[in-house]
Amino acid sequence: RAKAEGRRRFRFFEYDMDASLQARRHLEHDLRQAVCTDALAIHYQPLVGIDGGTVTVCEALLRWPHPQRGWISPAEFVPLAEEIGLIGALGEWVLERACREAALWPDGVKVAVNLSPMQFRDPEALLRTVTEALDRSGLAPGRLELEITESVLLADSEANVAALRRLKALGLRIAMDDFGTGYSSLSYLHRFPFDKIKIDQSFVRELGVSRHCSAIIQAVTSLGRSLGITTVAEGVETAEQFDLLRQAGCDEAQGYLFAQPMPAGELQAFLGRKAGSGSIPRAA
Ligand code: C2E
Ligand code: MG
Ligand code: MG
Ligand code: MG
Repeated sequence: RAKAEGRRRFRFFEYDMDASLQARRHLEHDLRQAVCTDALAIHYQPLVGIDGGTVTVCEALLRWPHPQRGWISPAEFVPLAEEIGLIGALGEWVLERACREAALWPDGVKVAVNLSPMQFRDPEALLRTVTEALDRSGLAPGRLELEITESVLLADSEANVAALRRLKALGLRIAMDDFGTGYSSLSYLHRFPFDKIKIDQSFVRELGVSRHCSAIIQAVTSLGRSLGITTVAEGVETAEQFDLLRQAGCDEAQGYLFAQPMPAGELQAFLGRKAGSGSIPRAA
C-alpha cells in the first residue's frame, strides 16, 4: 500500500513538473511577444544629491505588465530573457527608449541604464546599440550612465574591460551596481576606472543597526573620494539612514525616502515640480 502511494505521489510530482514547465513555456512566449510588441515599460527612479533636493540621475527600471499575472518583477524576467537569448533585444529596447525619454528632461538630469553581463558577450553589438541610441535620441553622451555588476569583470574580464573602455571613450559614465555583494569588489576598482559606485542596499538596511555596516560604508565613501569616484547609497528608506549616509560622506542617495520608480509621464511632472520649487518633496 505504501508502495502504491509512493507511486501515486511520484506521478503527482511528475504532473507538477509538467505544469511548471508549461507555465514557463508560456512565460517565455509572452516575454518574446512583449519585447516585439512594445508591451514592456520603463519606470524611472530619481537619485538625489546629498543635499536631498537635487535630482542628479534617474535610473531606468524595466517593468512588465503581464495581461494575466499583473506586474512581473525584472528580478524574475531579466534572468529568463538571459536564458532564452532575448537579452540582446531587450537591452537594445531599454537603451533606445531610455535615451529618447531622457532627452526630454532638463539638461542637468542624467539617465542610468542597467546592463546585463550577457550583453558583453557581443561587444560590437553593444557598442553599436549604445552609439545608435545616443545618435537617434540626440542625448549628450555625458548624460548617460551605464550600470554594470561585478560579474561583468568576473567572466572573460580582459575582453570586458576592453569593451568598458570603449564605452567610456564615447563620453558616458560607468557605474558599479550592488557594490559589496560580489567576491572581490575592491580588486575591480583598480581593473577599471569606474565613475560611480552604488553601495548595495543590504549595507544601507543595517545602518544604525550594525556598527560594522557604518564602518564599511564610511570606508567605501572615503575610498571613493580619494579615487575620484562618486558614491551612491541604494535603498534609502528612512531619514535616519540618510543622515548617517550624509555623515559618512556619501555623494548621492536613492530610495523610497525620496521617490519610488515611476512612469515617464509622472517623472516629467515630478522634475517639473522640482524645477519650480528648487527642491523635491520628501516622500516620507
Ligand atoms: P538594481 O539595478 O540594483 O535596481 C535597484 C532596485 O532597488 C530596483 O528594483 C528598485 O525598485 C529597488 N529600490 C529602489 N529604492 C528602494 C528602497 O528604498 N527600498 C527597497 N527595498 N528597494 C528599492 P527593481 O526595479 O525590482 O529591479 C531589480 C533589479 O532588476 C535591478 O536592480 C536590476 O539588477 C534589474 N533590472 C531592472 N531593469 C533592468 C534593465 O533594464 N536591464 C537589466 N539588465 N536589468 C534590469
Ligand atoms: Mg541598477
Ligand atoms: Mg543596485
Ligand atoms: Mg540590485
